[in-house]
Amino acid sequence: AKEHGRNNYQFFSHDMNTRAVERQLIENNLRRALESHEFRLHYQPKVDLKTNRITGVEALLRWEHPEWGLVLPERFIMIAEECGLIIPIGRWVLNEACEQAVRWRNEGISPVSIAVNVSALEFRHRDFFEHALAILQTTGVDPTCLQLELTESVLMRDVATSATLLAQFKAMGVQIAVDDFGTGYSSLSYLNQFPIDVLKIDQSFVRAIDTAQDSDGGIVSAVIGMGKNLNQRVIAEGVEDAGQFAFLDAHGCNEGQGYFFSKPVNAGQMQAMLNTGACI
Ligand code: C2E
Ligand code: CA
Ligand code: CA
Ligand code: CA
Repeated sequence: AKEHGRNNYQFFSHDMNTRAVERQLIENNLRRALESHEFRLHYQPKVDLKTNRITGVEALLRWEHPEWGLVLPERFIMIAEECGLIIPIGRWVLNEACEQAVRWRNEGISPVSIAVNVSALEFRHRDFFEHALAILQTTGVDPTCLQLELTESVLMRDVATSATLLAQFKAMGVQIAVDDFGTGYSSLSYLNQFPIDVLKIDQSFVRAIDTAQDSDGGIVSAVIGMGKNLNQRVIAEGVEDAGQFAFLDAHGCNEGQGYFFSKPVNAGQMQAMLNTGACI
């Protein structure tokens, strides 16, 4: 009976249990991470395809765990959402990004937009606007330099509430970007009702350029066309090579972001790039 019990235990520990234990371990460590100052923001430039000038940066969250080392968002963002920790973490991200924008301004760097990712739970939180407003005021950042990146599914979950919130941010001068555009199920007529400044074409479409999946780049050029028709600036994500760059430029895409220009880098490295205004 004893042996049977042990086997049973092992059976469980391999699949569900290990995952549950790992999840719990990450959650417990996340609870400590904010107070222990283990979070960092890295920045990735967005580049004007015509001029090669940096137009803005996206802030990307990094977790420097004292023992595990660098932990990427895909390992912990979902867990942070599930246990609600994304709310204080998201506030830290927004505040840090705004403070960084002010530091760069004080260094004499000409203003660039700083984009911050906003998760579903943050956007739906009743105090989101109020907190964002407080951060804008205490940091003194120019609101027109702040861009919020929201996915289609976040916006579409409750169209009326989204429209009201976005209008409040727009009234402040904050820019709105649709992240991972093309991967959700949004209807264009709804998207048209939101005050959206920027469409970010998901990197899966950019990767499909020159592959059998999209041999003539028809999907990418159609998505660029959609953005143009909605009068929005179009940014391609995940640009990795010169061929993709050339295709995107030729089809009217305004900006690009990806390893071809630069990986996400720390604030100091980003500042060096901003000082020259270019990364290639
Ligand atoms: P995202 O918003 O779509 O961010 C783009 C991701 O693509 C980043 O991954 C970036 O490092 C990566 N990337 C950039 N250029 C290239 C490229 O040329 N090729 C490839 N293969 N990848 C590229 P990262 O930093 O690991 O972030 C993953 C996701 O985690 C983000 O996807 C975003 O959804 C989420 N995230 C990151 N930071 C935050 C944050 O502060 N708050 C929230 N709520 N979510 C965040
Ligand atoms: Ca993003
Ligand atoms: Ca994206
Ligand atoms: Ca290519």
